[in-house]
Amino acid sequence: MGQPWAAGSADGAPARLPLVLTALWAAAVGLELTYVLVLGPGPPPLGPLARALQLALAAFQLLNLLGNVGLFLRSDPSIRGVMLAGRGLGQGWAYCYQCQSQVPPRSGHCSACRVCILRRDHHCRLLGRCVGFRNYRPFLCLLLHAAGVLLHVSVLLGPALSALLRAHTPLHMAALLLLPWLMLLTGRVSLAQFALAFVTDTCVAGALLCGAGLLFHGMLLLRGQTTWEWARGQHSYDLGPCHNLQAALGPRWALVWLWPFLASPLPGDGITFQTTADVGHTAS
Ligand SMILES: [Zn+2]
Ligand SMILES: [Zn+2]
Repeated sequence: MGQPWAAGSADGAPARLPLVLTALWAAAVGLELTYVLVLGPGPPPLGPLARALQLALAAFQLLNLLGNVGLFLRSDPSIRGVMLAGRGLGQGWAYCYQCQSQVPPRSGHCSACRVCILRRDHHCRLLGRCVGFRNYRPFLCLLLHAAGVLLHVSVLLGPALSALLRAHTPLHMAALLLLPWLMLLTGRVSLAQFALAFVTDTCVAGALLCGAGLLFHGMLLLRGQTTWEWARGQHSYDLGPCHNLQAALGPRWALVWLWPFLASPLPGDGITFQTTADVGHTAS
């Protein structure tokens, strides 16, 4: 008889290195932005009202970003602490030999987290933990607001970049933006110019990556699929767009994007799920 739940790693804690690296990168972006705004060409010229709106937007984005990061990291999507013993008799249940436990449908074992995750979507390498039933909402909101913040930072760095562009040839600038490390190591740019190009590159690439991730997960959200189910063409849990949104984000799915702490309790428990067949039976 397996245990009702099992912690995956020796101490049950997820790996911290990816999170530390992501935090260091975020700190580097923040420092570079501060440097450019304080010592560089400064922010783009705006009137007092536009400046106030821009500050309000930045505060809104930062609060949402940090709030969703906190919620994502605090929510444990795994089977730890979930009483599963005696429930593993229904369709779709399986036995996980690593966790030594019966695990419910849509869950999956993560070799990095070393534990089964309820409604497992994928393992997020940037934050070093899995995305599952309990942290899907902050993950999606994080994608949205990270894309917004990175775009905003790119715009704020724009005047510094254009000043650099005016001082150098287009070829030099293209090389700096495409191969900043090579330009630094060959002594063709100063450390400050390298830092500006590197941070702008990573902000634009990060915004594009987050935007693409948001589009992909938006599609999954409307279809009621996880990434794993999408890869295998499974549509067993597609209840229709509106019900799929409620199942993943709760009844206030339209508003959760605006504030991370807005209450919108998930209707399920991450163990049992309504299927397309159940809805068909109810309707007929
Ligand atoms: Zn497992
Ligand atoms: Zn994982």
